[in-house]
Amino acid sequence: MIKIDYKKCCWKDGKCSSCGCGGACVGCVEACPVQALERKKKLEYHKEKCISCGACVEACKHKAISMI
Ligand code: SF4
Ligand code: SF4
Repeated sequence: MIKIDYKKCCWKDGKCSSCGCGGACVGCVEACPVQALERKKKLEYHKEKCISCGACVEACKHKAISMI
């Protein structure tokens, strides 16, 4: 299981809140092997799909995700 710190995550209201990602935060969603993360209005976590691999934690440049 992971925990998302929405204060640190740059994806807000369906877009990158301008942190230098160039408008599309490439990171956790692309790293997840089982599509457990999805960028909607905010970053959504489908915990039933998560296999706790930790790839998203490594991939997030804002350190917004941690394992719990
Ligand atoms: S990589 Fe980090 S900042 Fe980007 S959407 Fe994922 S949690 Fe948010
Ligand atoms: S821990 Fe692995 S499976 Fe779970 S959301 Fe992160 S990348 Fe996806």
